[in-house]
Amino acid sequence: MKFTYKCTDCGSTFEIKPELTVCPACATKQEPETPLTGVLEVVLEGQAPEGWEVMDLLPVPEEFFPPAPVGDTPLWEPRNLRREYGAPNLYIKDDGANPTSSFKDRASYLVSAFARQHGIEDIVLASTGNAGSSMAGIGAAAGQRVTLFLPEAAPPAKIIQALQYGARVFKVRGNYDFAYALSQEYSKAHGGMNRNTAYNPMTMEGKKTVSLEIFRQLGRVPDHVFVPTGDGCIIGGVFKGFLDLKRLDITDRMPTIWCVQSDKSDAINRALENGKFEKISSSTLADSISVDVPANGRPVLRWMKEHGGRAVTVEDASIPRAQAKLSSSTGLFTEPAGATAFAGFLAVKDQLPKDDTFVVLATGNGLKDTNTAMKGVNAPDVVIESLNDIP
Ligand SMILES: *Cc1c(COP(=O)(O)O)cnc(C)c1O
Repeated sequence: MKFTYKCTDCGSTFEIKPELTVCPACATKQEPETPLTGVLEVVLEGQAPEGWEVMDLLPVPEEFFPPAPVGDTPLWEPRNLRREYGAPNLYIKDDGANPTSSFKDRASYLVSAFARQHGIEDIVLASTGNAGSSMAGIGAAAGQRVTLFLPEAAPPAKIIQALQYGARVFKVRGNYDFAYALSQEYSKAHGGMNRNTAYNPMTMEGKKTVSLEIFRQLGRVPDHVFVPTGDGCIIGGVFKGFLDLKRLDITDRMPTIWCVQSDKSDAINRALENGKFEKISSSTLADSISVDVPANGRPVLRWMKEHGGRAVTVEDASIPRAQAKLSSSTGLFTEPAGATAFAGFLAVKDQLPKDDTFVVLATGNGLKDTNTAMKGVNAPDVVIESLNDIP
């Protein structure tokens, strides 16, 4: 199998090397406060080996990956929800089961391997929380040094995780977009590998593994995949994975890929409607999908149009309710961003054939942000001393 980079804007192709992050020509057209131009996609050529494995379709050889059990996450068959909604083929892909409890490990794993392949020991990034705690954990497994820029409002559990894994953590006065800018500046000054979403092509490439796994677990391409979306790197990866399976003639189908966003952070869905990206000011309580300028927005918008992707925007207040509904009906407690995909499924399920195969991505463990999760439940407000005190 042969791997190269291709610019998702102009189509130029390049040899893969760590110094190259975005297309040099398209990068000169970057406007401030707009999605990244010149995002590079990994293109694979050749034929998948007989009885292929996910590793066979990745651009870095297996020997460079750190010893951490990333991916291969469970595909739940939620019996109670299937009955309640009359949807016998509903599945939940539980990416909270990754080593650092979020989907981001799929990207960190490949980035770590890519750095190791090229003898790079320092990795830098900005994150709303999960990418940072993920890179810190996977970097710890690999023995790499990780430097993080996090917005000061990042949930404490995610900061604590990163510190536990031994990363150097800078809390930034400002939002994720500002942390992103600072991390880019830091990389320019200090070198190492930058793992920023979309800016490092291996982030989207690593995330494609979820589609390959879903295909292997189901034995087919599902009809629908619901993806909680902020920067658009996960949904880009979901497209990429299924497109790779098509390119390799492993299937001739694509699922309908649903871009699920909160109405308080809906840059991509708005752009799909209006034809262009506008600056928004996000305020969703699902911190992992709170993004003003979606870094990976350009390729996602294109793939959504070309491959029948669909948008669903959910009310922010519906997210904690969807979260509690999922937890209490299945036993799967996912963080607010993860529950957003489920809220998206709930919003559109009645327009879709009940027998279709639905896969909902639950992208992070619920314990990562307990403050928000409290909004969807009633905490006991009396403290009892005997059973007589029970109201
Ligand atoms: C990062 C993240 C998302 C959104 O991914 P994008 O690539 O930013 O669209 C969704 N859920 C969780 C738990 C995340 O950490």
